[in-house]
Amino acid sequence: MLNGEKKIARPFRWAMVGGGRTAGVGYKHRTGALRDNTAFQLVAGAFDIDPVRGEDFGVNVGVDESRCYPDYKTMFTEEVKREDGIEAVSIATPNGTHYEITKAALEAGLHVVCEKPLFFTVAEAQEIKELAEEKGKIVGVTYGFSGNQMMLQMRAMVEQGKIGDIRIVELQYTHGFNATDKADAISEAQKWRVDPKIAGPSFVLGDLSTHTYYMSQLIMPNMKISKLLCDRQSIVGSRAPLEDNAFVLMHYENGAVGRLWTSSVDAGCMDGHRIRIVGSKASLEWWDSKPNELRYEVQGEPAQTLIRAMPYLDESCLADERLGALHQEGLSDAWANIYLKFAVAMDAKNRGDEETLKNLVYPDINAGLEGIRWIENCVRSADAGAAWVEFE
Ligand code: NAD
Repeated sequence: MLNGEKKIARPFRWAMVGGGRTAGVGYKHRTGALRDNTAFQLVAGAFDIDPVRGEDFGVNVGVDESRCYPDYKTMFTEEVKREDGIEAVSIATPNGTHYEITKAALEAGLHVVCEKPLFFTVAEAQEIKELAEEKGKIVGVTYGFSGNQMMLQMRAMVEQGKIGDIRIVELQYTHGFNATDKADAISEAQKWRVDPKIAGPSFVLGDLSTHTYYMSQLIMPNMKISKLLCDRQSIVGSRAPLEDNAFVLMHYENGAVGRLWTSSVDAGCMDGHRIRIVGSKASLEWWDSKPNELRYEVQGEPAQTLIRAMPYLDESCLADERLGALHQEGLSDAWANIYLKFAVAMDAKNRGDEETLKNLVYPDINAGLEGIRWIENCVRSADAGAAWVEFE
């Protein structure tokens, strides 16, 4: 169980690029990273595309004025000169900037935590992976939902054969917040999400389904997709060529089949994030809106609801417990779990401790790379007229 005591010798001196006053996701980074005060300390930032607003915001959240920078390039150049300069940076800017900022950060000798979807292409991710290896740095990806410790319970139960051989994978991440084009015109965050120059080759496949795809890989690390078929639509036509709805059929190497539905036009749906894994003996099901519960349904027996923090759970799941039973937790805890692992990974890398890195389960550069591979294959299939394509 976690109680906030330190896991590494001292916290990393940490900065953010993006995540400022108007940002959607910035606060989740800070609540995740700063939760324990023993993993990261926020000491600098280039928080906003608008430098004046960025500085005002940085000072407001406690960063010294002299370390609130107008842009990330100035921040990296100036911080390198300081003895107490930053050691790690989180990138919470729109998708199209992730690659160049990550590259610049690694070249400046920093560990990186970057938002999803990591970059536009697998080739870019491979290049950054090599650069990170060369520089001896970690690149973490904020698949925040994956920090829900019930994911580790599912992983343990799959590994222990509790559901038998996996036959069917059913994934869903949908909501209805873009059922009309209203937000596309008025929300800065929505405008770039439907602009391929900034969002990349997809909208909801990258914005939503990369989370769920990573979570499925976390739960079932041995399940490899052999081929997929992606059928995507711009149901609100002005979003073409980017999709606001997609169905993906998957075939796995072990013969299992799967399907994923992702959508932002699922009108009336406030949170349709669901993972169901069907095995030969039993099924597991988890809903984001009930993150403390895991359904375990054994064929022919009464269904069970496993509850977070209870001693019958796997020790890997209980190791990420923060509140104990009876107290309900949610997404901020999931983010804190992810950030703590980023810090442990960075610390291990600094010490050349490859053993710790090998055993640490967290969304690393490979997870980011696989997210892009997922999008690339889906887009290739969809663009070929929703055809089956080999998963490359
Ligand atoms: P947003 O448009 O709400 O905010 C973007 C922020 O970045 C703003 O503060 C903006 O001023 C700043 N910015 C833009 N360009 C910049 C630059 N060059 N330098 C410094 N700051 C810059 O977007 P958002 O919803 O916060 O999304 C940002 C990223 O986070 C996207 O990649 C998105 O996919 C991802 N995201 C992830 C999650 C998650 O659960 N992990 C949730 C939401 C968004």
